[in-house]
Amino acid sequence: MAALQAADKRSLESLFKTRVSFERRERTLYGHDIAEIPSMIKPLVGSTVPDAIVQPASEEELVALVRWAREHRTALTPRGRASSGYGGVLPVKGGLVVDFFHLSKLLEIDRATQTVRVQPGICWEKLDRELAKENLTLRLYPSSYPAATVGGWLAQGGAGFGSYESGWFRDNVVSARGVLADGTVREFSGSDLDLVSEAEGTTGLISEVTVKVMPKEELGVISIGCPDAHDLQLLVERIVKDRLPIWSLSFINPRMAEMKNRAPLRMHADHAVGERVLLPASYVMTLAFREKDRRRIDDVLPDLFKTCQAELLSDRIAHHEWDNRFEMMVVKRLGPSLVPAEVVIPLSSLGDMMAEVERKISQPVVKEGLVIREGAGGNPEVVILGFIPSDQRKFSYNFIFPLSLTVMKIAEKNGGRPYATGLYFAGKAGQILGRERLERLKEFKAKEDPSNILNPGKVMQGGVMASALSLGAAIEPLIRPLGNHVISKIGERPTQSVRDIPADVAWYAYTCSQCGYCVAECDQFYGRGWESQSPRGKWYWLREYMAGREKWDQQMVDTFLVCTTCEMCDTRCSTNLPIEPSWMKLRGMLINEEQRMTFPPFEMMAAALKSEGNIWAGYRKDRMDWYPADLKAAHPPGGKAKNVYFAGCTASYVEHDIGQASVRLLDKAGVDFVHLGKEENCCGTPMLVAGRWDLFAEIMKRNIELVKQAGADTVITSCPACDLMWRQYYPEWAKKLGIDYPIKARHYSEILAEQIKAGKFRFPESEKPVTVTWHDSCHIGRASGVYEPPRDVIQAIPDVKLVEMSHNREQAHCCASVLTLLKEPPVAADIGKVRLDEALAAGAEKILSLCPCCQVQLRVTAEKKGMPIEVQDLAHFAAATFGYTFPDPNPEVRKQWAVFEAFIKLLTPQGFAGLMGTMWPELIDAMPLGMGPMMHLLGKVPGTVSLMKPMFPVLFPRLLPLMLPKVLPTMLRRVEEQIEMPQYMREQMPDLMPKVMDRLMPHMIGDVVPLISQPMIDYLQGKS
Ligand SMILES: Cc1cc2nc3c(=O)[nH]c(=O)nc-3n(C[C@H](O)[C@H](O)[C@H](O)COP(=O)(O)OP(=O)(O)OC[C@H]3O[C@@H](n4cnc5c(N)ncnc54)[C@H](O)[C@@H]3O)c2cc1C
Ligand code: SF4
Ligand code: SF4
Repeated sequence: MAALQAADKRSLESLFKTRVSFERRERTLYGHDIAEIPSMIKPLVGSTVPDAIVQPASEEELVALVRWAREHRTALTPRGRASSGYGGVLPVKGGLVVDFFHLSKLLEIDRATQTVRVQPGICWEKLDRELAKENLTLRLYPSSYPAATVGGWLAQGGAGFGSYESGWFRDNVVSARGVLADGTVREFSGSDLDLVSEAEGTTGLISEVTVKVMPKEELGVISIGCPDAHDLQLLVERIVKDRLPIWSLSFINPRMAEMKNRAPLRMHADHAVGERVLLPASYVMTLAFREKDRRRIDDVLPDLFKTCQAELLSDRIAHHEWDNRFEMMVVKRLGPSLVPAEVVIPLSSLGDMMAEVERKISQPVVKEGLVIREGAGGNPEVVILGFIPSDQRKFSYNFIFPLSLTVMKIAEKNGGRPYATGLYFAGKAGQILGRERLERLKEFKAKEDPSNILNPGKVMQGGVMASALSLGAAIEPLIRPLGNHVISKIGERPTQSVRDIPADVAWYAYTCSQCGYCVAECDQFYGRGWESQSPRGKWYWLREYMAGREKWDQQMVDTFLVCTTCEMCDTRCSTNLPIEPSWMKLRGMLINEEQRMTFPPFEMMAAALKSEGNIWAGYRKDRMDWYPADLKAAHPPGGKAKNVYFAGCTASYVEHDIGQASVRLLDKAGVDFVHLGKEENCCGTPMLVAGRWDLFAEIMKRNIELVKQAGADTVITSCPACDLMWRQYYPEWAKKLGIDYPIKARHYSEILAEQIKAGKFRFPESEKPVTVTWHDSCHIGRASGVYEPPRDVIQAIPDVKLVEMSHNREQAHCCASVLTLLKEPPVAADIGKVRLDEALAAGAEKILSLCPCCQVQLRVTAEKKGMPIEVQDLAHFAAATFGYTFPDPNPEVRKQWAVFEAFIKLLTPQGFAGLMGTMWPELIDAMPLGMGPMMHLLGKVPGTVSLMKPMFPVLFPRLLPLMLPKVLPTMLRRVEEQIEMPQYMREQMPDLMPKVMDRLMPHMIGDVVPLISQPMIDYLQGKS
């Protein structure tokens, strides 16, 4: 198929606007799935980098796309969340990857028929959350529920949790719509579903699916230990025979239990947050059933146990296994790679199959099984997913990989088959799908897609790779000993850094299972919609970097920097990776150690912070302007007490209501506290996330010293970022730097909540009832685990109704403040809108928050997007009930943000080029060594200055540092003309601007020169 020409790209752009990407890096990230093919056989697959990625947003767009592809003879490879591992999503013939991310709406819930109509890109978790609102739930779902899409599962086919009762997914689909290769749309139902299910998009792009659902009922779970696979088989056979009312039946083998026992727990800061529940070294079977059926199951089980040596395991084990059912990939931490092997076998051969695997494969094979009560042909079947731990970076991976064929052969011998076709097992399509069905698919494909544009090379079209695997299966007994003789190490062992990537981060990059659980919930992803912004994309990029196929540039540095540090990914990761802390480590490496460029506005903040101790460029002398005069006697700024209230920069300089209301509440609560006074500094968060760790350490030391001088042992905060510093980062860094840190941090909401509970603090009756919702700021929620105290405060206020947004507490979405806001304000507004939409959907009149930065961001978003919701500070809201009045922060936020946004635009190559374009006379005159007059002269000789243009990239980096100081007064005047700033900022500009330019210019000059070259030539030639 032909490669894309410039005109093709233009036409795709006109069809999909910003929802098409031709970027090389992005394309690489859309060219793989979860499987890691060994180096020796990878060449057989060929290039899997698509020519472009398109993201249709409607069925009409899918139709237009298919027509376009047919006309341009371009292959289309559909992609849900790419959580499959059979190569179905690999664009083996180039062309376009069709990403269904924007086709992910829930269209209709029909309670009467208990069905739900959805777009194909909706993920199971999201769908289930929506169903729960209607008291419905899914009949079954894959164990990739947090990532996989409905369309992807239908196209791939499969079984999952709930399959014991509900069978294969296809049997739970009522109908599906698909866009065929000629652009017509067809509805598939009944036996015609065979034409799309397991067809992997080779016959049509699924545009809509109607799925059966069921009433949501309380589930009970029990786990059973069984020492032997034959006994396990016996037990399951009895459960099936006795028709026990089980909804889901899954199990793991003893190796998996052992590996789970060894896998690292989820960490937070420097401590484990996951619970270690040790599993016995046996088959651990977990049954999920409707709680109402518990008695029946309890009555029968003891009798069943008599047939085998099974034992009931503790409730703790059962709940732990069930609650962590999506995290089976955690064992990958010990690899860092896993060789997968997935098969379907009759239940009647479970024991023999397991025993034979143990006999023939010397490597540890960890297995997970799912039982289907009525599988193909109405008989019970078992899906077995096996993994062999290995290390893809080692050559021996090439030998261990073929052991998956051993598992397959054993399954076939025992009446089984491979799980799916995709790219790799297309040669087994007859076995997997059945001969008759395969013929029907082939006929349909030949008739409807004669040009073979829909997912070519898959399912029924075995290519070189499928043939190689068939050959491999034939000679499996010969190659098996190679794999069996490899000595595999098991355990997390990050030993050395790779290129400049720290050893632990390098290990995690290979550990990442590419499952995609972290993708859709990462605000950087859903704000932009591209894989490169997601944690999964970043890990994959790091692998490419470590393999020497990528290098750092400013775009990649920015991609890592722009992460909002929301920590959502850490809570979702199927392998418990410390993702956000890894990015934090890279910030330090990139900016602090390697001296690359951080986001330019941070340099302005850094300059202001150095001279005046705050990031808003206010004067230190004005830091206490907000402090209520009548509290100075009881809580003196600069005084001594056991508690210090730490206001932070934004409350001190922008949103005064936060600080004022917080101290009012603390005073009302009888807390003995002081304030550090004008000496208080920024907490340092912006410098930490900017990678300016030199400044962070400096500022931290000053703040710790001040608290010690105040004789305090507790810092009370209102700002979550300040809280995070005092609670977690300062102690960590203090330890690292050998500083004594006898300080603990508390948030004012924790103190109030305690007093409320103890009956010591009461709010007065309010004047009018109001419905509010609570925004869990990431830095006090996920980072510090303070979820309930603010809610306790709100609920203690009479006549206030608290409604929850659908993402709350640990799952709360980030507002997109600070990093995204500084880097790309329009993206920040898109992300912020997601949060405000949820608040409106919850029926809230106000969204309460306690974070100054969230409040700035949400206010800016509400204004930009015209959203009818008030953003208010919690302390302001709560203290107002006592009759206190506070300044409306909105005008100040608007004013100061406008200045900041203008600086964000100015501190870019385009901004600088524009600024320079306003001062050519001064710049040319400032050239050293009499070059200015010479340039003027050359400008008069036609064509001469243009001849010099190629020298500009070499010349200007040398000249500009000499020129800029001379033009500083003009530059400052121009900046003042462009940006309407407050007097105090204007006064400081002569000091701040040179510092900012000094830091930024060396990095930016390369991008600025091409932008100024022609305008300068035009000026010299008198054209402008
Ligand atoms: C941790 C983990 C657990 C898993 N557990 C299970 C499990 O329990 N059961 C199971 O069956 N699988 C499981 N899988 C595999 C995988 O998650 C499933 O196959 C899943 O359904 C794939 O969904 P997806 O959206 O990621 O599809 P993708 O992987 O993106 O695509 C799968 C196939 O469908 C095609 N496709 C995708 N969308 C469309 C569309 N709209 N129209 C036409 N074709 C399309 C693709 O081209 C590809 O061939 C697991 C994977 C992981 C990583
Ligand atoms: S911390 Fe938040 S923004 Fe950063 S990668 Fe994780 S989910 Fe995305
Ligand atoms: S970072 Fe974790 S959640 Fe994300 S793709 Fe990797 S393993 Fe999955």
